[in-house]
Amino acid sequence: MKTPIELDDLSCEIKNQVQEKVPDAFLDLCLTCGTCTGGCPGSELLDMDPRKLLRMVLLGMDKEVAKTDWTWVCTMCARCVNACPMKINIPKLVYNLRNMWPRENRPKGIRASCDQHIRAGNAMGVPTDDFIWTVEDVAAEIRETQPEFKDMKVTVDRKGAYMAINQNSREPVTEPDEMGPLWKILHQVGADWTYPSVMWAGENYCLFLADEEGWRYILEEFVYHIDNNLGCEVVVNTE
Ligand code: SF4
Ligand code: SF4
Repeated sequence: MKTPIELDDLSCEIKNQVQEKVPDAFLDLCLTCGTCTGGCPGSELLDMDPRKLLRMVLLGMDKEVAKTDWTWVCTMCARCVNACPMKINIPKLVYNLRNMWPRENRPKGIRASCDQHIRAGNAMGVPTDDFIWTVEDVAAEIRETQPEFKDMKVTVDRKGAYMAINQNSREPVTEPDEMGPLWKILHQVGADWTYPSVMWAGENYCLFLADEEGWRYILEEFVYHIDNNLGCEVVVNTE
């Protein structure tokens, strides 16, 4: 049997903190309709769902909210926000709950990917030269073996390209051929694009870790490179 919650144990500190940071999350407007829970991929995992989490926050069950691992189950997909009749932003709530965890207690895998991205420019830790070599090698093979793509242009750091496109760093490592289909589409539509060599990875685990400093650093390095070294007018994030 579950232990009843003592009224004295309730505190709305978490709700107040989140509301102050993101007033547009509209936490107080919940109707408890359950629409969010119906479409949430994390519902019922760890005996939790978005409606329940929000209810606990609003009731002031801060101790339980602070220690639930469900905070790390939410994928931040935002299906709940799109379905919610009151436009309550559960992922913003979840992000801020994650941010309240000491960094060293956050999940090791996400933390390592974030750290790796800050260090190496991508979550897989691929050296830039290896990325460029892999891209050129796969593109050369496509040009050689598929005559209709013999003129396909695939570049890294081409100054003046209209679009800068990033790339999930798992593909060059585990499935390099999977990069080809996007290149072919871009070729067929005559797109003028390039990969950047700095922070070229599309993923950003620092966002999922709620590491604002790391998240900002990655984006700033990326934007600086595009603006100052390449001059691309448009950035396409493939993630
Ligand atoms: S869909 Fe919105 S209003 Fe309905 S329970 Fe979820 S958060 Fe509350
Ligand atoms: S953002 Fe989180 S809470 Fe909302 S639907 Fe996705 S997994 Fe569920």
